Amino acid sequence: MVKKKRAALNDIVVQCEGRGKICTLRARPFLIRCCKSVLCMSVAGYLLLASLALFLGIARSVTFFSECKNTRLMSEIREMRDFVSSQEEYITRLFSDDDCRRSMYGAVAVSDEVRQVGVGGPATDDDIESVFATRHEIELRRLAERVDKLLRQYDFHDYSLTDFSGYLKDKKYRMDHVPSIAPINGWLLSGFGVRTHPIFHEARMHEGVDIANFEGTPIRASAAGVAKTGRSETYGNYVFLDHGNEFTTIYAHMRATGVIDGRYVKRGEIIGYVGSTGLSTGPHLHYEVRKYRHPIDPETYILPNDFIVD
Ligand SMILES: [Zn+2]
Repeated sequence: MVKKKRAALNDIVVQCEGRGKICTLRARPFLIRCCKSVLCMSVAGYLLLASLALFLGIARSVTFFSECKNTRLMSEIREMRDFVSSQEEYITRLFSDDDCRRSMYGAVAVSDEVRQVGVGGPATDDDIESVFATRHEIELRRLAERVDKLLRQYDFHDYSLTDFSGYLKDKKYRMDHVPSIAPINGWLLSGFGVRTHPIFHEARMHEGVDIANFEGTPIRASAAGVAKTGRSETYGNYVFLDHGNEFTTIYAHMRATGVIDGRYVKRGEIIGYVGSTGLSTGPHLHYEVRKYRHPIDPETYILPNDFIVD
């Protein structure tokens, strides 16, 4: 049997009876406060540990999902990195092809430095933002920089192709206006230089070449230019072509001209027919090439037939 009674203010007396003995336990207020404090601290500790366990559980769950997300993100980054690498190899091949084309046609080469199409400003991982950036953010930033560079390089390649195309058109225009084919096929009667004149029988400078063929054989322009026709005692019926550059050509002794004054003719176009007008002993073409108004050997401006492609 247990009996409790309050012996005094703030005192608790407990009397225990058993086997004829009585035990008395007296709890002082100080001990009671200590017990209460210990109890409160125990409850608080338990609650704290429970909260910590809950937090760790949630954190583990978040970490697990975060790791899954990171794995997927890294996989996507790897795929993007492989794609960017393949595009960098492709643009390198395009630049190599461009170098070959430019070298083949004598165009100005583009240096590797220019093709890097760099832009200003530092791009390092040591700046303040990078210190707090995650590995994924740094990877993505590097990829973005490589993609930006690729886009600039593709733009530059387009510009380079346009520039090369313009260069080719300009070169073709210039080549079209340089004497480069024989006006007629035939027999070379007389070359360029001093010779005994066939009529005056004295040494005279021959400022062109004489090519014989049947009367009426078509004569073709050796290069594109603007035609001017005329007739003189020495040249007979002739066509003068102004090629719009340093070159002019003359086609003389024609039976008849085949073009009107001021007309623009293309290389290979018929401009007259073989005859024997003027100072001539038989049907042939007297052909002159002049550079800056000075006569030069036309044979140096007659290229093989399969060399010219119009
Ligand atoms: Zn001649």
